[in-house]
Amino acid sequence: MSLDDKVLLTVACTGAWPTKEHTPYIPLTPQEEADEIVRCWEAGASIAHIHVRDDEFNASMDFDKFKETVDLVRSRCDIVINLTTSGGLGLDDEIRMKPFQELRPEIASYDCGTMNWAHSTVFENSPKFLEKLAVTMVECKVKPEIEIFDGGMVYNMLHYLKKGLLQERPHLQFVLGAPGGMTAEVKNLMFLLDICRENLGHNFTWGALGIGRGHLPIKYAALALGGHLRVGMEDNIFYRKGQLAKSNVEFVERSKRMVSEIDKSIATPEEARQILNLQNCPG
Ligand code: ZN
Repeated sequence: MSLDDKVLLTVACTGAWPTKEHTPYIPLTPQEEADEIVRCWEAGASIAHIHVRDDEFNASMDFDKFKETVDLVRSRCDIVINLTTSGGLGLDDEIRMKPFQELRPEIASYDCGTMNWAHSTVFENSPKFLEKLAVTMVECKVKPEIEIFDGGMVYNMLHYLKKGLLQERPHLQFVLGAPGGMTAEVKNLMFLLDICRENLGHNFTWGALGIGRGHLPIKYAALALGGHLRVGMEDNIFYRKGQLAKSNVEFVERSKRMVSEIDKSIATPEEARQILNLQNCPG
């Protein structure tokens, strides 16, 4: 099977918001999260998108928590590591960048613009921060996963590509259904994808996710349109309506079945490294 028939499967086990009150199955400590990531890797996931929590289990960019989690994962498996740069609001640029600068994951998130979050606060990614983030990621050989929450963020990305701050053949993650971003509807994914294709041709890779109830429709649409997948409790805690997922592995297993039904298969971590041309590879 050629790499064209491989689908990247990112698992986002923890995220910034769900607590044990939302679901008792969410992994929150570094040990819990690492154990869950290893189980997802054993089930076939290609990439782990990692957030951490502080000792009160709030969203955090605590470097020690990232280090503990990443060390535990790396000691047990070869899954591609993708660190968030947005684990908490209102943090200094340096705090957001330190985990990827020090730990050198293969991928880190690059949230390509600012938006209001849940009608209550600002999800800030200022022009100054985005320029600094792009330069620092190149220095650290970390591939940006460019997260797109609305149409303006696509144009921000095109601007930074034109300026040479973002590098060619970018990898995009369409994040639909965030409170304040575009809704998780297939028409929105089509719209965003069309702008990218008009401007970049096929010179980019992409995945998509829907938050909450838009999760499955966006997954099916992404597969139909040739994209990659992200699953996990960061985005959605229900396996189906009214039924909490007991483990992130359930989402991995469902993705494998969906992908095999269209005669494709989930990329191994090694294949993911080739598809995304990653540089900070282990070993
Ligand atoms: Zn995230």
